[in-house]
Amino acid sequence: MADSNPQTLETLETLIDSNLLIAQSLAKFGVERMFGVVGIPVTSIANRAVSAGIRFIAFHNEQSAGYAASAYGYLAARPGVLLTVSGPGCVHGLAGLSNAAINTWPMVMISGSCDQRDVGRGDFQELDQIEAVKPYVKFAAKVTHISQIPNLVFEVLSQSVIGRPGACYLDVPSDVLHQKVSEFEANRLLNEVERVGIEGLRLGIGSAEVGKAVSMIRAAERPLIVFGKGAAYARAEDELRRFVERTGIPFLPTPMGKGLLPDTHELAATAARSLAIGKCDVAVVVGARLNWLLHFGEPPKWAKDVKFILIDVSKEEIELRKPHLGLVGDAREALRMINEEIKDDPFCFARSHPWVEAISRKSKDNVAKLEVQLAKDVVPFNFFTPMRIIRDAILAEGSPAPILVSEGANTMDVGRSVLVQTEPRTRLDAGTWGTMGVGLGYCIAAAVASPDRLVVAVEGDSGFGFSAMEVETLVRYQLPVIVIVFNNGGVYGGDRRNPEEISGPYKDDPAPTSFVPGAAYHKLIEAFGGKGYLVGTPEELKSALKESFSARKPAVINVTIDPYAGSESGRLQHKN
Ligand code: ADP
Repeated sequence: MADSNPQTLETLETLIDSNLLIAQSLAKFGVERMFGVVGIPVTSIANRAVSAGIRFIAFHNEQSAGYAASAYGYLAARPGVLLTVSGPGCVHGLAGLSNAAINTWPMVMISGSCDQRDVGRGDFQELDQIEAVKPYVKFAAKVTHISQIPNLVFEVLSQSVIGRPGACYLDVPSDVLHQKVSEFEANRLLNEVERVGIEGLRLGIGSAEVGKAVSMIRAAERPLIVFGKGAAYARAEDELRRFVERTGIPFLPTPMGKGLLPDTHELAATAARSLAIGKCDVAVVVGARLNWLLHFGEPPKWAKDVKFILIDVSKEEIELRKPHLGLVGDAREALRMINEEIKDDPFCFARSHPWVEAISRKSKDNVAKLEVQLAKDVVPFNFFTPMRIIRDAILAEGSPAPILVSEGANTMDVGRSVLVQTEPRTRLDAGTWGTMGVGLGYCIAAAVASPDRLVVAVEGDSGFGFSAMEVETLVRYQLPVIVIVFNNGGVYGGDRRNPEEISGPYKDDPAPTSFVPGAAYHKLIEAFGGKGYLVGTPEELKSALKESFSARKPAVINVTIDPYAGSESGRLQHKN
């Protein structure tokens, strides 16, 4: 139309294409950061997003970018947005999308897709992407015309945070990306979006249930408060502290719940976990699922007759677990109501209570035993000596505490008991899905979500290897991330096979669990202008940590670990 007649509307009015309208919609509905990999047909969306004031972090691989988006959703309590190309880009992005779904974190994946006219004819990167994302999303939509963009962008963003957070997907065919509307029309579309208040959609908690919960806790002899990353996501730390300190009940965080109350708190039962869960009679579980991480809430780890009070935003979750009492709603609000209910009549499991005393005694014993093990300077390094040195360096940073990213089998297991969390949402690890390879993506998300904090990753060499190329991304954006690689030469470490059990023509190949011994991971970051360190003694590690923490520039510290120090499958040997 515009080509044939120079006096048409198109020449008189500014036209806006779908790339710009998507960017404007994202910015208008609160998106400040995006993660992704550009290419056909989405490069313009990324460029337009930058012009709309959104920080776009460009990755090498959609898998890492997706992990970043998922963790950003958790840390920022707003949807983490991932942009991918069509077909294979969307498939790589499924890693992040599924990770967000399983961890119940808000995330939106936006993928380009092939031209609508060519569907079914073998078009470039053709895939039924709506079908591919289905198992992982709460909501998915395909834009079939530019006029739908503002509404659908708002819809995917809001659906991802409403109720139980999760993953959503928006499909943008390449032909739609070429469509245009006038600026006037674009503004009309943007302003017409029906924005339903998210707060208004939160489920309410009945005061009768709160009263019942308080009565159950009051009647308990050995109560325990368990909290997880749902409570962290809900920013429930202040209400939790009030609840714990006014009642004097011991608490147990899940791995990512660590830091909501400091690990060093006198009521922390972390170091007496088996006793706490094995003997408690009433457990208040806040924003944590009774899944494998909490042994399904069943014997032999838990007592047979333990009564669970579950607080979760998801009604389905509560129905699935069939607790004694379920409070469906936001964790912070539920705890506020509980605190309100007990306000005029506080009860206290003071330190002199036998249950609290037993937990405290067991904790102190276990901490003392661990400290004996940690105090030794073992060289070549086992997992404990460098972990202690790292713990002390992180603690010396004070507040705001660094965000810790942890993955790997032995590295994560040992790290969980040795590294100390003092502030909420400062620990990211393999999570509900036990996802390895999240490290670099999580580091980037953490640095972008909390620019005032240092980010320290403590990873096994295998976990690091999944996304090691993203060290270039760290350097490119100059993010304050220190990646510490526990290098024991493979998955779980050196070759542990019995040579007599290996036969066949490839018996002399390296073990499936092993990598090149002594791999120079520190040189990888140097290739891009970052700082690399190779360390093998306590003094070398201390010096590298001191220098890199104060520089707050991207660095990789390659820590040589004895290849036979860890165990296969870490603490999950029964599942291997
Ligand atoms: P963890 O891994 O720490 O044990 P999970 O991921 O298993 O934690 O459980 C987190 C739970 O928190 C999920 O069941 C989720 O529905 C719930 N949740 C998410 N947001 C909230 C919220 N605002 N309030 C209460 N529960 C929430």
